[in-house]
Amino acid sequence: MKSCDEPGVRRGGGRFFREWVLASYAPPIADYRFLLEKVLGFEQAMSELGRDVDVDLAAAVLEEAGRLCADRLHPLNREGDEHGCRLVDGAVATPPGFAAAYRDFAAAGWPALSADPEHGGQGLPLIVQLWTDEMLSATNLSFGLCPSLTRGACEALAAHADAELKARWLPPLVRGEWTGAMALTESAAGSDLSLLTTRAEPRGDGSYRVSGSKIFISSGDHDYGGNIVHLVLARLADAPPGVKGISLFLVPKFLPDAAGNFCLRNAMSVGALEKKMGMHAQPTCLMNFDGATGWLIGQPHRGLAAMFTMMNNARINVGNQGAQIAERATQQALAYARDRVQSARAGSPDKTPVAIIEHPDVRRMILRMKALTEGCRALLYYCSGQVDRGNCGDEAAKNRAEIIVPLLKAWGTDIGVEVASLGIQIHGGMGFVEETGAAQHWRDSRIAPIYEGTNGIQAADLVTRKLGLDGGEAMIALFETIAREAAGERTLATLAEDCAGIARWMQGEASLDDRLAGSVPFCTMAAVCVAGWQLMKQAAAVAAGAAPALAESKPVTVRFFLDRVVPEALGLKAGAVAGADLLYALPAEKLAG
Ligand SMILES: Cc1cc2nc3c(=O)[nH]c(=O)nc-3n(C[C@H](O)[C@H](O)[C@H](O)COP(=O)(O)OP(=O)(O)OC[C@H]3O[C@@H](n4cnc5c(N)ncnc54)[C@H](O)[C@@H]3O)c2cc1C
Repeated sequence: MKSCDEPGVRRGGGRFFREWVLASYAPPIADYRFLLEKVLGFEQAMSELGRDVDVDLAAAVLEEAGRLCADRLHPLNREGDEHGCRLVDGAVATPPGFAAAYRDFAAAGWPALSADPEHGGQGLPLIVQLWTDEMLSATNLSFGLCPSLTRGACEALAAHADAELKARWLPPLVRGEWTGAMALTESAAGSDLSLLTTRAEPRGDGSYRVSGSKIFISSGDHDYGGNIVHLVLARLADAPPGVKGISLFLVPKFLPDAAGNFCLRNAMSVGALEKKMGMHAQPTCLMNFDGATGWLIGQPHRGLAAMFTMMNNARINVGNQGAQIAERATQQALAYARDRVQSARAGSPDKTPVAIIEHPDVRRMILRMKALTEGCRALLYYCSGQVDRGNCGDEAAKNRAEIIVPLLKAWGTDIGVEVASLGIQIHGGMGFVEETGAAQHWRDSRIAPIYEGTNGIQAADLVTRKLGLDGGEAMIALFETIAREAAGERTLATLAEDCAGIARWMQGEASLDDRLAGSVPFCTMAAVCVAGWQLMKQAAAVAAGAAPALAESKPVTVRFFLDRVVPEALGLKAGAVAGADLLYALPAEKLAG
Protein backbone atom coordinates (compact mmCIF):
# COMPACT_ATOMS: atom_id res chain seq x y z
CA MET A 1 0.00 0.00 0.00
CA LYS A 2 1.24 3.48 -0.86
CA SER A 3 1.94 6.01 1.88
CA CYS A 4 0.29 9.41 1.71
CA ASP A 5 3.74 10.94 1.18
CA GLU A 6 4.20 9.29 -2.17
CA PRO A 7 3.34 11.13 -5.33
CA GLY A 8 0.29 9.88 -7.08
CA VAL A 9 -1.74 8.92 -4.03
CA ARG A 10 -5.33 9.95 -4.60
CA ARG A 11 -7.22 11.91 -2.02
CA GLY A 12 -11.00 12.04 -1.63
CA GLY A 13 -11.25 14.73 -4.31
CA GLY A 14 -9.93 12.22 -6.85
CA ARG A 15 -6.92 14.29 -7.83
CA PHE A 16 -3.20 13.88 -7.96
CA PHE A 17 -2.27 16.76 -5.75
CA ARG A 18 1.12 17.38 -7.24
CA GLU A 19 -0.28 17.79 -10.73
CA TRP A 20 -3.07 19.85 -9.35
CA VAL A 21 -0.76 22.17 -7.41
CA LEU A 22 1.35 22.69 -10.52
CA ALA A 23 -1.70 23.55 -12.55
CA SER A 24 -2.87 26.10 -10.01
CA TYR A 25 -0.33 28.86 -10.81
CA ALA A 26 -0.76 31.29 -13.69
CA PRO A 27 1.55 34.30 -14.08
CA PRO A 28 -0.63 37.42 -13.47
CA ILE A 29 0.40 39.07 -16.75
CA ALA A 30 -3.01 40.69 -17.42
CA ASP A 31 -2.82 42.54 -14.10
CA TYR A 32 0.75 43.67 -14.84
CA ARG A 33 -0.22 44.91 -18.28
CA PHE A 34 -3.18 46.83 -16.91
CA LEU A 35 -1.00 48.50 -14.31
CA LEU A 36 1.68 49.39 -16.85
CA GLU A 37 -0.75 50.82 -19.36
CA LYS A 38 -3.47 52.39 -17.27
CA VAL A 39 -2.31 53.06 -13.73
CA LEU A 40 1.42 53.63 -13.63
CA GLY A 41 1.59 55.76 -16.76
CA PHE A 42 4.59 53.60 -17.65
CA GLU A 43 5.40 54.98 -21.10
CA GLN A 44 5.09 58.59 -19.98
CA ALA A 45 7.25 57.91 -16.92
CA MET A 46 9.85 56.15 -19.08
CA SER A 47 9.99 59.01 -21.56
CA GLU A 48 10.28 61.55 -18.70
CA LEU A 49 13.17 59.50 -17.36
CA GLY A 50 14.73 59.30 -20.84
CA ARG A 51 14.33 55.49 -21.04
CA ASP A 52 13.55 53.77 -24.31
CA VAL A 53 11.13 51.10 -23.03
CA ASP A 54 7.50 50.78 -24.07
CA VAL A 55 4.65 48.70 -22.65
CA ASP A 56 4.93 46.04 -25.37
CA LEU A 57 8.59 45.43 -24.65
CA ALA A 58 7.98 45.27 -20.89
CA ALA A 59 5.00 42.93 -21.37
CA ALA A 60 6.97 40.67 -23.74
CA VAL A 61 9.76 40.34 -21.14
CA LEU A 62 7.21 39.57 -18.43
CA GLU A 63 5.43 36.94 -20.54
CA GLU A 64 8.71 35.17 -21.23
CA ALA A 65 9.64 35.34 -17.52
CA GLY A 66 6.20 33.98 -16.64
CA ARG A 67 6.74 30.96 -18.90
CA LEU A 68 10.15 30.26 -17.37
CA CYS A 69 8.75 30.46 -13.85
CA ALA A 70 5.66 28.35 -14.46
CA ASP A 71 7.36 25.69 -16.62
CA ARG A 72 10.81 25.42 -15.08
CA LEU A 73 10.96 26.74 -11.51
CA HIS A 74 7.51 25.87 -10.25
CA PRO A 75 7.96 22.11 -10.75
CA LEU A 76 11.16 22.25 -8.65
CA ASN A 77 9.54 23.97 -5.66
CA ARG A 78 8.01 20.95 -3.94
CA GLU A 79 10.96 18.65 -4.54
CA GLY A 80 13.26 21.40 -3.28
CA ASP A 81 11.29 21.61 -0.04
CA GLU A 82 11.28 17.86 0.50
CA HIS A 83 14.87 17.16 -0.51
CA GLY A 84 16.50 20.27 0.98
CA CYS A 85 20.18 21.21 0.74
CA ARG A 86 22.96 18.91 1.98
CA LEU A 87 26.48 19.52 3.17
CA VAL A 88 28.70 16.91 1.50
CA ASP A 89 32.44 16.97 2.25
CA GLY A 90 32.27 20.64 3.18
CA ALA A 91 30.39 21.70 0.04
CA VAL A 92 26.70 22.49 -0.35
CA ALA A 93 24.63 20.34 -2.69
CA THR A 94 21.35 22.02 -3.63
CA PRO A 95 18.32 19.84 -4.44
CA PRO A 96 18.25 18.03 -7.80
CA GLY A 97 17.47 20.31 -10.71
CA PHE A 98 18.33 23.61 -9.01
CA ALA A 99 21.90 23.98 -10.29
CA ALA A 100 20.92 23.20 -13.88
CA ALA A 101 17.95 25.57 -13.66
CA TYR A 102 20.19 28.34 -12.33
CA ARG A 103 22.74 27.87 -15.12
CA ASP A 104 20.00 28.04 -17.76
CA PHE A 105 18.49 31.07 -16.02
CA ALA A 106 21.85 32.88 -16.14
CA ALA A 107 22.62 31.80 -19.71
CA ALA A 108 19.29 33.27 -20.82
CA GLY A 109 20.34 36.68 -19.44
CA TRP A 110 17.75 37.02 -16.65
CA PRO A 111 20.16 38.16 -13.89
CA ALA A 112 21.17 41.23 -15.95
CA LEU A 113 17.63 42.47 -16.59
CA SER A 114 17.70 45.77 -14.68
CA ALA A 115 21.47 46.14 -14.23
CA ASP A 116 23.29 49.17 -15.56
CA PRO A 117 24.33 48.71 -19.24
CA GLU A 118 27.73 50.17 -18.27
CA HIS A 119 28.38 46.90 -16.42
CA GLY A 120 26.77 44.59 -18.96
CA GLY A 121 23.16 44.91 -17.79
CA GLN A 122 20.07 45.44 -19.92
CA GLY A 123 18.96 48.61 -18.12
CA LEU A 124 15.26 47.75 -17.82
CA PRO A 125 13.34 49.72 -15.17
CA LEU A 126 13.01 48.47 -11.61
CA ILE A 127 9.30 47.70 -12.00
CA VAL A 128 9.97 45.09 -14.72
CA GLN A 129 12.63 43.57 -12.50
CA LEU A 130 10.27 43.45 -9.51
CA TRP A 131 7.51 41.77 -11.48
CA THR A 132 9.95 39.22 -12.82
CA ASP A 133 11.09 38.63 -9.24
CA GLU A 134 7.49 38.28 -8.17
CA MET A 135 6.91 35.41 -10.58
CA LEU A 136 10.30 33.90 -9.83
CA SER A 137 9.73 33.72 -6.13
CA ALA A 138 5.99 33.03 -6.30
CA THR A 139 6.93 29.81 -8.04
CA ASN A 140 10.14 29.10 -6.11
CA LEU A 141 11.12 31.40 -3.24
CA SER A 142 14.27 29.46 -2.42
CA PHE A 143 15.52 29.82 -5.99
CA GLY A 144 14.63 33.51 -6.23
CA LEU A 145 16.71 34.66 -3.27
CA CYS A 146 20.12 33.98 -4.81
CA PRO A 147 19.77 36.24 -7.91
CA SER A 148 18.19 38.90 -5.76
CA LEU A 149 21.18 38.93 -3.37
CA THR A 150 23.54 39.00 -6.34
CA ARG A 151 21.78 42.08 -7.63
CA GLY A 152 22.18 43.77 -4.26
CA ALA A 153 25.91 42.94 -4.27
CA CYS A 154 26.23 44.44 -7.76
CA GLU A 155 24.56 47.65 -6.64
CA ALA A 156 26.81 47.99 -3.59
CA LEU A 157 29.91 47.42 -5.75
CA ALA A 158 28.71 49.79 -8.46
CA ALA A 159 28.09 52.53 -5.90
CA HIS A 160 31.13 52.13 -3.64
CA ALA A 161 33.95 50.03 -5.12
CA ASP A 162 36.93 51.55 -6.93
CA ALA A 163 37.33 51.21 -10.70
CA GLU A 164 39.70 48.24 -10.48
CA LEU A 165 37.40 46.19 -8.25
CA LYS A 166 34.41 47.04 -10.42
CA ALA A 167 36.17 46.03 -13.63
CA ARG A 168 37.24 42.68 -12.21
CA TRP A 169 34.18 41.60 -10.23
CA LEU A 170 31.10 43.30 -11.57
CA PRO A 171 30.64 41.92 -15.12
CA PRO A 172 30.46 38.20 -14.20
CA LEU A 173 28.20 39.04 -11.24
CA VAL A 174 25.91 41.13 -13.43
CA ARG A 175 25.71 38.28 -15.96
CA GLY A 176 24.90 35.89 -13.11
CA GLU A 177 27.87 33.64 -13.95
CA TRP A 178 28.97 34.35 -10.37
CA THR A 179 26.67 34.97 -7.44
CA GLY A 180 26.76 37.36 -4.50
CA ALA A 181 26.20 36.80 -0.77
CA MET A 182 25.79 39.21 2.09
CA ALA A 183 27.82 38.30 5.19
CA LEU A 184 26.78 40.59 8.04
CA THR A 185 25.28 38.54 10.84
CA GLU A 186 27.34 36.94 13.62
CA SER A 187 26.13 34.95 16.59
CA ALA A 188 26.40 37.97 18.89
CA ALA A 189 25.59 40.59 16.23
CA GLY A 190 22.17 40.37 14.60
CA SER A 191 20.02 43.51 14.63
CA ASP A 192 22.93 45.26 16.33
CA LEU A 193 25.83 45.08 13.89
CA SER A 194 27.95 47.33 16.11
CA LEU A 195 28.75 44.16 18.08
CA LEU A 196 30.42 42.32 15.22
CA THR A 197 33.92 40.97 15.81
CA THR A 198 35.15 39.73 12.40
CA ARG A 199 38.58 41.29 11.83
CA ALA A 200 40.47 42.48 8.77
CA GLU A 201 44.20 43.26 8.57
CA PRO A 202 46.02 44.78 5.63
CA ARG A 203 48.47 42.43 3.91
CA GLY A 204 50.50 45.32 2.49
CA ASP A 205 49.69 44.51 -1.14
CA GLY A 206 46.31 46.24 -1.25
CA SER A 207 44.45 43.15 -0.07
CA TYR A 208 43.28 42.20 3.46
CA ARG A 209 43.21 39.08 5.59
CA VAL A 210 39.64 38.56 6.87
CA SER A 211 38.95 36.33 9.91
CA GLY A 212 35.73 35.54 11.73
CA SER A 213 32.51 33.52 11.65
CA LYS A 214 29.27 34.64 10.06
CA ILE A 215 25.97 32.87 10.61
CA PHE A 216 22.78 32.59 8.52
CA ILE A 217 24.47 33.47 5.21
CA SER A 218 21.98 32.89 2.38
CA SER A 219 23.57 31.26 -0.68
CA GLY A 220 26.87 31.33 1.27
CA ASP A 221 27.83 28.26 -0.73
CA HIS A 222 26.12 26.26 -3.49
CA ASP A 223 26.78 24.11 -6.52
CA TYR A 224 25.45 26.45 -9.20
CA GLY A 225 29.00 26.86 -10.55
CA GLY A 226 31.17 29.96 -10.84
CA ASN A 227 32.52 32.10 -8.05
CA ILE A 228 30.66 33.20 -4.90
CA VAL A 229 31.43 36.79 -3.94
CA HIS A 230 30.80 37.55 -0.27
CA LEU A 231 30.39 41.12 0.87
CA VAL A 232 31.69 40.85 4.43
CA LEU A 233 31.44 43.37 7.24
CA ALA A 234 34.57 43.40 9.44
CA ARG A 235 36.65 45.67 11.67
CA LEU A 236 40.11 47.03 10.97
CA ALA A 237 42.58 47.13 13.89
CA ASP A 238 42.34 50.93 14.25
CA ALA A 239 38.54 50.96 13.98
CA PRO A 240 36.57 53.16 16.36
CA PRO A 241 34.00 51.21 18.42
CA GLY A 242 30.39 50.81 17.28
CA VAL A 243 28.90 51.13 13.82
CA LYS A 244 31.37 53.85 12.83
CA GLY A 245 34.17 51.28 12.90
CA ILE A 246 32.82 48.75 10.42
CA SER A 247 34.32 48.28 6.96
CA LEU A 248 33.07 46.32 3.95
CA PHE A 249 35.19 43.74 2.14
CA LEU A 250 34.82 41.72 -1.01
CA VAL A 251 35.84 38.14 -0.18
CA PRO A 252 35.44 35.60 -3.00
CA LYS A 253 35.31 31.83 -2.75
CA PHE A 254 37.87 31.55 -5.58
CA LEU A 255 40.92 33.76 -6.10
CA PRO A 256 42.69 34.21 -9.44
CA ASP A 257 45.90 32.32 -10.22
CA ALA A 258 48.82 33.97 -12.04
CA ALA A 259 47.03 33.48 -15.35
CA GLY A 260 43.89 35.19 -14.04
CA ASN A 261 41.81 32.01 -13.76
CA PHE A 262 39.61 31.96 -10.67
CA CYS A 263 40.59 28.53 -9.44
CA LEU A 264 42.43 29.00 -6.10
CA ARG A 265 40.30 28.25 -3.04
CA ASN A 266 40.22 31.17 -0.61
CA ALA A 267 40.63 30.47 3.15
CA MET A 268 36.92 30.22 3.85
CA SER A 269 34.66 27.26 4.51
CA VAL A 270 31.10 26.24 5.30
CA GLY A 271 31.00 25.39 9.02
CA ALA A 272 27.39 24.18 8.95
CA LEU A 273 24.17 24.32 7.00
CA GLU A 274 21.28 25.74 9.02
CA LYS A 275 18.24 23.47 9.52
CA LYS A 276 15.24 25.71 8.92
CA MET A 277 11.45 25.61 9.14
CA GLY A 278 11.15 26.67 5.50
CA MET A 279 13.12 27.69 2.40
CA HIS A 280 14.72 24.25 2.46
CA ALA A 281 16.18 24.58 -1.02
CA GLN A 282 17.96 27.81 -0.09
CA PRO A 283 21.39 27.09 1.44
CA THR A 284 21.76 29.16 4.63
CA CYS A 285 25.35 28.73 5.76
CA LEU A 286 27.56 29.29 8.75
CA MET A 287 30.66 30.67 7.04
CA ASN A 288 34.14 30.62 8.55
CA PHE A 289 36.67 33.10 7.20
CA ASP A 290 40.14 31.97 8.29
CA GLY A 291 42.47 34.70 7.08
CA ALA A 292 40.61 34.81 3.77
CA THR A 293 41.87 37.26 1.16
CA GLY A 294 39.59 40.20 0.53
CA TRP A 295 39.54 43.75 -0.75
CA LEU A 296 38.16 46.87 0.89
CA ILE A 297 35.05 48.33 -0.75
CA GLY A 298 34.80 52.10 -0.34
CA GLN A 299 36.33 53.94 2.60
CA PRO A 300 37.67 52.33 5.80
CA HIS A 301 35.08 52.41 8.63
CA ARG A 302 32.32 53.44 6.20
CA GLY A 303 31.20 49.88 5.46
CA LEU A 304 27.77 50.07 6.98
CA ALA A 305 26.84 53.03 4.79
CA ALA A 306 28.03 51.09 1.74
CA MET A 307 26.11 48.03 2.87
CA PHE A 308 22.96 50.13 3.15
CA THR A 309 22.96 50.46 -0.66
CA MET A 310 22.58 46.72 -0.78
CA MET A 311 20.16 46.58 2.13
CA ASN A 312 17.74 49.12 0.69
CA ASN A 313 17.48 47.11 -2.48
CA ALA A 314 17.20 43.92 -0.45
CA ARG A 315 14.41 45.37 1.69
CA ILE A 316 12.34 46.16 -1.40
CA ASN A 317 13.00 42.64 -2.66
CA VAL A 318 11.99 41.10 0.65
CA GLY A 319 8.81 43.22 0.76
CA ASN A 320 8.17 41.87 -2.72
CA GLN A 321 8.53 38.34 -1.29
CA GLY A 322 5.38 39.09 0.70
CA ALA A 323 3.46 39.78 -2.53
CA GLN A 324 5.09 36.77 -4.19
CA ILE A 325 4.10 34.20 -1.62
CA ALA A 326 0.69 35.84 -1.17
CA GLU A 327 -0.05 35.66 -4.91
CA ARG A 328 0.93 32.00 -5.02
CA ALA A 329 -1.05 31.08 -1.90
CA THR A 330 -4.10 32.99 -3.15
CA GLN A 331 -4.14 31.34 -6.55
CA GLN A 332 -3.84 27.91 -4.99
CA ALA A 333 -6.50 28.54 -2.33
CA LEU A 334 -8.88 29.85 -4.97
CA ALA A 335 -8.40 26.74 -7.10
CA TYR A 336 -8.96 24.51 -4.07
CA ALA A 337 -12.04 26.40 -2.88
CA ARG A 338 -13.64 26.06 -6.31
CA ASP A 339 -12.96 22.36 -6.33
CA ARG A 340 -13.62 21.17 -2.79
CA VAL A 341 -17.28 20.28 -2.23
CA GLN A 342 -18.58 20.41 1.31
CA SER A 343 -21.95 21.25 2.89
CA ALA A 344 -24.98 22.84 1.30
CA ARG A 345 -25.20 26.61 1.10
CA ALA A 346 -26.83 27.84 4.34
CA GLY A 347 -30.58 28.07 3.90
CA SER A 348 -30.64 26.27 0.53
CA PRO A 349 -33.77 24.15 0.23
CA ASP A 350 -32.27 21.15 -1.61
CA LYS A 351 -29.35 20.56 0.80
CA THR A 352 -27.00 19.77 -2.11
CA PRO A 353 -23.36 20.15 -1.04
CA VAL A 354 -21.58 22.95 -2.90
CA ALA A 355 -17.98 23.99 -3.54
CA ILE A 356 -16.67 25.63 -0.36
CA ILE A 357 -16.15 28.90 -2.24
CA GLU A 358 -19.92 29.35 -2.01
CA HIS A 359 -19.83 29.68 1.81
CA PRO A 360 -19.65 33.25 3.17
CA ASP A 361 -16.63 32.69 5.42
CA VAL A 362 -14.59 31.13 2.62
CA ARG A 363 -15.54 34.06 0.38
CA ARG A 364 -14.32 36.39 3.14
CA MET A 365 -10.98 34.61 3.31
CA ILE A 366 -10.49 34.55 -0.46
CA LEU A 367 -11.35 38.22 -0.85
CA ARG A 368 -9.09 39.13 2.04
CA MET A 369 -6.24 37.21 0.43
CA LYS A 370 -6.82 38.93 -2.90
CA ALA A 371 -7.20 42.40 -1.38
CA LEU A 372 -4.09 42.12 0.78
CA THR A 373 -2.05 40.71 -2.12
CA GLU A 374 -3.14 43.44 -4.51
CA GLY A 375 -2.60 46.08 -1.81
CA CYS A 376 0.92 44.84 -1.19
CA ARG A 377 1.63 44.86 -4.91
CA ALA A 378 0.23 48.38 -5.25
CA LEU A 379 2.61 49.56 -2.51
CA LEU A 380 5.49 47.82 -4.25
CA TYR A 381 4.77 49.51 -7.58
CA TYR A 382 4.45 52.88 -6.00
CA CYS A 383 7.74 52.37 -4.18
CA SER A 384 9.59 51.21 -7.30
CA GLY A 385 8.31 54.19 -9.29
CA GLN A 386 9.62 56.54 -6.60
CA VAL A 387 12.98 54.73 -6.58
CA ASP A 388 13.29 55.03 -10.39
CA ARG A 389 12.46 58.74 -10.18
CA GLY A 390 14.77 59.25 -7.22
CA ASN A 391 17.61 57.60 -9.17
CA CYS A 392 17.04 60.17 -11.94
CA GLY A 393 17.52 63.09 -9.54
CA ASP A 394 13.99 63.75 -8.20
CA GLU A 395 14.73 64.53 -4.52
CA ALA A 396 11.09 64.48 -3.36
CA ALA A 397 10.61 61.03 -4.92
CA LYS A 398 13.83 59.86 -3.28
CA ASN A 399 12.55 60.91 0.16
CA ARG A 400 9.20 59.30 -0.51
CA ALA A 401 10.89 56.04 -1.50
CA GLU A 402 12.89 56.22 1.75
CA ILE A 403 9.61 56.39 3.68
CA ILE A 404 7.89 53.63 1.70
CA VAL A 405 10.74 51.07 1.91
CA PRO A 406 10.19 50.19 5.62
CA LEU A 407 6.40 50.14 5.07
CA LEU A 408 6.80 47.74 2.19
CA LYS A 409 9.31 45.50 3.93
CA ALA A 410 7.34 45.26 7.18
CA TRP A 411 3.72 45.23 6.05
CA GLY A 412 4.44 43.32 2.83
CA THR A 413 6.09 40.48 4.69
CA ASP A 414 3.40 40.43 7.40
CA ILE A 415 0.87 40.14 4.57
CA GLY A 416 2.80 37.21 3.08
CA VAL A 417 2.52 35.30 6.36
CA GLU A 418 -1.14 36.17 6.92
CA VAL A 419 -2.20 35.28 3.39
CA ALA A 420 -0.24 32.02 3.42
CA SER A 421 -1.89 31.16 6.75
CA LEU A 422 -5.35 31.89 5.31
CA GLY A 423 -4.39 29.62 2.41
CA ILE A 424 -3.85 26.78 4.87
CA GLN A 425 -7.20 27.53 6.50
CA ILE A 426 -9.02 27.32 3.18
CA HIS A 427 -7.50 23.89 2.54
CA GLY A 428 -8.76 22.70 5.95
CA GLY A 429 -6.92 19.55 7.03
CA MET A 430 -5.35 19.26 3.59
CA GLY A 431 -3.61 22.55 4.35
CA PHE A 432 -1.99 21.21 7.51
CA VAL A 433 -0.63 18.10 5.80
CA GLU A 434 2.25 18.72 3.42
CA GLU A 435 0.76 17.10 0.33
CA THR A 436 -0.92 20.21 -1.06
CA GLY A 437 2.05 22.54 -0.55
CA ALA A 438 -0.13 25.11 1.26
CA ALA A 439 1.92 24.54 4.41
CA GLN A 440 5.15 25.10 2.49
CA HIS A 441 4.02 28.57 1.42
CA TRP A 442 3.48 29.48 5.08
CA ARG A 443 6.73 27.91 6.29
CA ASP A 444 8.64 29.67 3.50
CA SER A 445 6.94 33.01 4.16
CA ARG A 446 7.89 33.12 7.85
CA ILE A 447 11.49 34.19 7.37
CA ALA A 448 10.61 37.39 5.51
CA PRO A 449 9.49 39.40 8.60
CA ILE A 450 12.81 38.42 10.24
CA TYR A 451 15.65 38.89 7.77
CA GLU A 452 16.82 42.11 6.12
CA GLY A 453 16.19 43.92 9.42
CA THR A 454 13.31 42.51 11.46
CA ASN A 455 9.97 44.21 11.03
CA GLY A 456 10.45 45.80 14.47
CA ILE A 457 13.68 47.36 13.19
CA GLN A 458 11.87 48.62 10.05
CA ALA A 459 9.23 50.31 12.20
CA ALA A 460 11.94 51.86 14.39
CA ASP A 461 13.60 53.22 11.24
CA LEU A 462 10.27 54.74 10.19
CA VAL A 463 9.76 56.67 13.44
CA THR A 464 13.38 57.79 13.81
CA ARG A 465 15.32 58.42 10.57
CA LYS A 466 12.39 58.56 8.13
CA LEU A 467 10.17 60.72 10.34
CA GLY A 468 12.63 63.60 10.07
CA LEU A 469 13.30 63.55 6.31
CA ASP A 470 13.16 67.01 4.74
CA GLY A 471 12.72 68.55 8.20
CA GLY A 472 9.76 66.23 8.85
CA GLU A 473 7.85 67.58 5.84
CA ALA A 474 8.32 64.54 3.56
CA MET A 475 6.14 62.27 5.69
CA ILE A 476 3.48 64.90 6.48
CA ALA A 477 3.24 65.85 2.79
CA LEU A 478 2.65 62.21 1.83
CA PHE A 479 -0.29 61.78 4.21
CA GLU A 480 -1.74 65.19 3.40
CA THR A 481 -1.67 64.34 -0.31
CA ILE A 482 -3.51 61.09 0.37
CA ALA A 483 -6.09 62.80 2.61
CA ARG A 484 -6.77 65.35 -0.15
CA GLU A 485 -6.97 62.85 -3.00
CA ALA A 486 -9.09 60.44 -0.96
CA ALA A 487 -11.65 63.06 0.02
CA GLY A 488 -14.39 60.92 -1.57
CA GLU A 489 -13.33 57.84 0.42
CA ARG A 490 -14.03 59.05 3.95
CA THR A 491 -12.47 56.11 5.83
CA LEU A 492 -9.25 56.26 3.85
CA ALA A 493 -9.10 60.04 4.19
CA THR A 494 -9.54 59.68 7.97
CA LEU A 495 -6.73 57.13 8.08
CA ALA A 496 -4.46 59.53 6.19
CA GLU A 497 -5.39 62.38 8.56
CA ASP A 498 -4.72 60.13 11.54
CA CYS A 499 -1.33 59.13 10.11
CA ALA A 500 -0.41 62.79 9.61
CA GLY A 501 -1.57 63.55 13.18
CA ILE A 502 0.46 60.69 14.65
CA ALA A 503 3.53 61.75 12.64
CA ARG A 504 3.20 65.30 14.02
CA TRP A 505 2.81 63.95 17.57
CA MET A 506 5.88 61.79 17.10
CA GLN A 507 7.84 64.73 15.67
CA GLY A 508 6.80 66.89 18.62
CA GLU A 509 5.77 65.97 22.12
CA ALA A 510 6.30 62.17 22.05
CA SER A 511 9.43 60.88 23.75
CA LEU A 512 11.74 58.55 21.83
CA ASP A 513 10.39 55.61 23.86
CA ASP A 514 6.81 56.68 23.05
CA ARG A 515 7.63 56.74 19.35
CA LEU A 516 9.28 53.33 19.42
CA ALA A 517 6.42 51.89 21.49
CA GLY A 518 3.95 52.98 18.80
CA SER A 519 6.18 52.28 15.82
CA VAL A 520 4.76 48.93 14.65
CA PRO A 521 1.06 49.93 14.71
CA PHE A 522 1.97 53.23 13.04
CA CYS A 523 3.98 51.42 10.37
CA THR A 524 0.99 49.18 9.59
CA MET A 525 -1.40 52.15 9.48
CA ALA A 526 0.90 54.03 7.12
CA ALA A 527 1.35 51.01 4.83
CA VAL A 528 -2.39 50.34 4.61
CA CYS A 529 -2.97 54.03 3.96
CA VAL A 530 -0.54 54.22 1.02
CA ALA A 531 -1.68 50.85 -0.38
CA GLY A 532 -5.36 51.89 -0.10
CA TRP A 533 -4.60 55.15 -1.91
CA GLN A 534 -2.90 53.32 -4.77
CA LEU A 535 -5.72 50.75 -4.98
CA MET A 536 -8.25 53.57 -5.08
CA LYS A 537 -6.44 54.92 -8.16
CA GLN A 538 -6.53 51.48 -9.76
CA ALA A 539 -10.28 51.23 -9.19
CA ALA A 540 -10.77 54.68 -10.71
CA ALA A 541 -8.82 53.65 -13.81
CA VAL A 542 -10.94 50.53 -14.18
CA ALA A 543 -14.15 52.53 -13.66
CA ALA A 544 -13.03 54.83 -16.48
CA GLY A 545 -13.09 51.81 -18.80
CA ALA A 546 -9.35 51.22 -18.80
CA ALA A 547 -9.36 47.44 -18.39
CA PRO A 548 -12.51 45.55 -19.35
CA ALA A 549 -10.92 42.26 -18.22
CA LEU A 550 -10.70 43.60 -14.67
CA ALA A 551 -13.97 45.55 -14.73
CA GLU A 552 -15.75 43.07 -12.50
CA SER A 553 -13.02 41.87 -10.15
CA LYS A 554 -10.92 44.99 -9.41
CA PRO A 555 -13.72 47.15 -7.94
CA VAL A 556 -14.74 44.32 -5.59
CA THR A 557 -11.23 43.70 -4.32
CA VAL A 558 -10.56 47.39 -3.86
CA ARG A 559 -13.91 47.86 -2.08
CA PHE A 560 -13.02 45.00 0.26
CA PHE A 561 -9.70 46.67 1.04
CA LEU A 562 -11.22 50.10 1.62
CA ASP A 563 -14.21 48.85 3.64
CA ARG A 564 -12.59 46.05 5.68
CA VAL A 565 -8.82 46.46 5.81
CA VAL A 566 -8.65 50.26 6.13
CA PRO A 567 -11.02 50.35 9.17
CA GLU A 568 -8.85 47.75 10.92
CA ALA A 569 -5.86 50.04 10.40
CA LEU A 570 -7.83 52.94 11.91
CA GLY A 571 -8.24 50.81 15.02
CA LEU A 572 -4.46 50.68 15.46
CA LYS A 573 -4.31 54.38 16.33
CA ALA A 574 -4.83 53.73 20.05
CA GLY A 575 -1.73 51.55 20.16
CA ALA A 576 0.30 53.97 18.03
CA VAL A 577 -0.20 56.90 20.42
CA ALA A 578 -0.45 55.02 23.72
CA GLY A 579 3.13 55.78 24.67
CA ALA A 580 5.65 53.60 26.45
CA ASP A 581 4.62 53.95 30.13
CA LEU A 582 2.49 50.80 30.33
CA LEU A 583 5.18 48.74 28.59
CA TYR A 584 7.57 49.59 31.42
CA ALA A 585 5.02 49.38 34.24
CA LEU A 586 6.60 46.08 35.29
CA PRO A 587 10.33 45.43 35.58
CA ALA A 588 11.53 42.72 33.15
CA GLU A 589 11.78 40.06 35.88
CA LYS A 590 8.12 40.56 36.89
CA LEU A 591 6.74 40.02 33.35
CA ALA A 592 6.82 36.29 34.04
CA GLY A 593 4.33 36.62 36.89
C1 LIG B 1 16.98 31.96 6.79
C2 LIG B 1 17.81 33.15 7.15
C3 LIG B 1 18.57 33.78 6.17
C4 LIG B 1 19.38 34.87 6.51
N1 LIG B 1 20.19 35.42 5.55
C5 LIG B 1 21.15 36.30 5.94
C6 LIG B 1 22.17 36.72 5.03
O1 LIG B 1 22.20 36.33 3.86
N2 LIG B 1 23.14 37.54 5.48
C7 LIG B 1 23.17 38.00 6.77
O2 LIG B 1 24.08 38.73 7.12
N3 LIG B 1 22.20 37.64 7.65
C8 LIG B 1 21.20 36.81 7.27
N4 LIG B 1 20.24 36.40 8.16
C9 LIG B 1 20.25 36.96 9.48
C10 LIG B 1 19.08 37.92 9.72
O3 LIG B 1 19.25 39.09 8.99
C11 LIG B 1 18.96 38.13 11.23
O4 LIG B 1 18.44 36.93 11.77
C12 LIG B 1 18.11 39.33 11.59
O5 LIG B 1 18.75 40.51 11.22
C13 LIG B 1 17.77 39.38 13.07
O6 LIG B 1 18.90 39.22 13.86
P1 LIG B 1 18.88 38.14 15.04
O7 LIG B 1 18.42 36.86 14.46
O8 LIG B 1 20.19 38.16 15.72
O9 LIG B 1 17.74 38.63 16.01
P2 LIG B 1 17.92 39.69 17.21
O10 LIG B 1 18.65 40.88 16.73
O11 LIG B 1 18.46 38.99 18.40
O12 LIG B 1 16.41 40.11 17.48
C14 LIG B 1 15.51 39.33 18.24
C15 LIG B 1 14.22 40.13 18.47
O13 LIG B 1 14.53 41.34 19.16
C16 LIG B 1 14.08 42.46 18.44
N5 LIG B 1 15.02 43.57 18.57
C17 LIG B 1 16.37 43.53 18.54
N6 LIG B 1 16.87 44.76 18.68
C18 LIG B 1 15.82 45.60 18.80
C19 LIG B 1 15.68 47.02 18.96
N7 LIG B 1 16.73 47.83 19.01
N8 LIG B 1 14.44 47.54 19.03
C20 LIG B 1 13.35 46.74 18.97
N9 LIG B 1 13.43 45.40 18.82
C21 LIG B 1 14.65 44.85 18.73
C22 LIG B 1 13.99 42.00 16.99
O14 LIG B 1 13.07 42.78 16.24
C23 LIG B 1 13.56 40.56 17.16
O15 LIG B 1 12.16 40.51 17.29
C24 LIG B 1 19.39 35.35 7.83
C25 LIG B 1 18.60 34.74 8.80
C26 LIG B 1 17.84 33.64 8.49
C27 LIG B 1 17.07 32.95 9.58
